[in-house]
Amino acid sequence: MNTSNETLIRNAGLVLTMDDAGSEMSDCDIRIRDGVIAEVGQGLSTDGQVLDAAECLVTPGLVNTHHHLYQSLTRAVPGGQDALLFGWLQTLYPIWSRFGPEEMYVSAQVGLAELMLSGCTLTSDHLYLYPNGARLDDTIAAAADIGMRFHPTRGSMSIGESDGGLPPDSLVEKEAAILDDCIRVIDAHHDASEGSMCRVGVAPCSPFSVSRELMRDAAVLARDKGVMLHTHLAENDEDIAYSLEKFGCRPGQYAEDLGWTGDDVWHAHCVKLDDQEIDLFARSGTGVAHCPCSNCRLGSGIAPVRQMRDAGVKVGLGVDGSASNDAGNLVLEARQSMLLQRVANGADAMSAREALRIATRGGAEVLGRDDCGQIAVGKRADLAIWDMSGIEAAGNWDRAALLLAGPTQVRDLFIEGRRVVASGQITSIDLPKTIARQNAMALTLAEH
Ligand SMILES: [Zn+2]
Repeated sequence: MNTSNETLIRNAGLVLTMDDAGSEMSDCDIRIRDGVIAEVGQGLSTDGQVLDAAECLVTPGLVNTHHHLYQSLTRAVPGGQDALLFGWLQTLYPIWSRFGPEEMYVSAQVGLAELMLSGCTLTSDHLYLYPNGARLDDTIAAAADIGMRFHPTRGSMSIGESDGGLPPDSLVEKEAAILDDCIRVIDAHHDASEGSMCRVGVAPCSPFSVSRELMRDAAVLARDKGVMLHTHLAENDEDIAYSLEKFGCRPGQYAEDLGWTGDDVWHAHCVKLDDQEIDLFARSGTGVAHCPCSNCRLGSGIAPVRQMRDAGVKVGLGVDGSASNDAGNLVLEARQSMLLQRVANGADAMSAREALRIATRGGAEVLGRDDCGQIAVGKRADLAIWDMSGIEAAGNWDRAALLLAGPTQVRDLFIEGRRVVASGQITSIDLPKTIARQNAMALTLAEH
């Protein structure tokens, strides 16, 4: 039996490193040891396992910066299929209010497995409702069991229907209890060290579901604890109108006033940022989780990603919740981001290489991970191996153009040096059994 904790990925057809120079290397080996990339080059040797990658493209693992994993239990719900954002939420809230710890765990595993198969090695999650005893810990356990590098965020809602908010009162929490639980989960699970598999963030759901005070207190708490801040911002026209009416300012101004800008903050969507807000994000180092499929699905618009990138805003990708995509395939999300910028700005507005860089290095930068998102010695061994010998890439002249013609699932995936997908199969959990559990739960929820 081979007891070495070393793996050599041998003879990769092409390696896209996503390093600062954007290096691309043909016929390249990668040696990984103790969860870290130990060596990159040609003719390397090992006393550990060897994995041939001759027909493959190797990229850093993709990074997902926005998700609501629990929603994988409510995909394609009929009443929510064709509604705008606020109507969509009002259809789904009553269903989500029947979730509990087991629903959170199983739906998270399904969502995480779907991400892994599409090349993702690091994902954030935004869980903002805790019915029937559900806790952030349920999703943290799901990620640990499947082996995903995880940035869960402790979301929250505090303004229910009786206070003029959108969610039913049964789904909102008292603000003091929210802050107490943020402290609890950070103390229990947050690991700030290099190579961390779990970093917790603080994430009120959106400016229209919590008070101004909670937004401000959350920012103070996050900075006190040294964790990141996340929320939804400027998602669509209704969102902007709400901000102008309720707060007397645009979302960017609201965020800045409450301490919600900086390199420890990232906002989901930002479809409607104007020039001043883009400038604010660039100056302050505030990140954006761009969710192109969800923005299409809910008719929200096309985020100004070209303008953001040109201004120097950090941009990563997000599949968003599984109830508003309703897929969770991150490499397809990257393709969609490339296509949408071309719709808005012309065919030369975003290359396949740039979109893939956003999906890897870009996401890692948004999540504050300089130890992830690139293939270089000393970085974490998070690698996606794409088999370019199949039908999708047949006739492809440029393997780096994965997003134009290539597979939409990985052959192999390494997270922290562990082979969590092998030959297209998740290795860490019994996926068919988990899917069966999920479908049984969906049926029960639908029958209610
Ligand atoms: Zn979202």
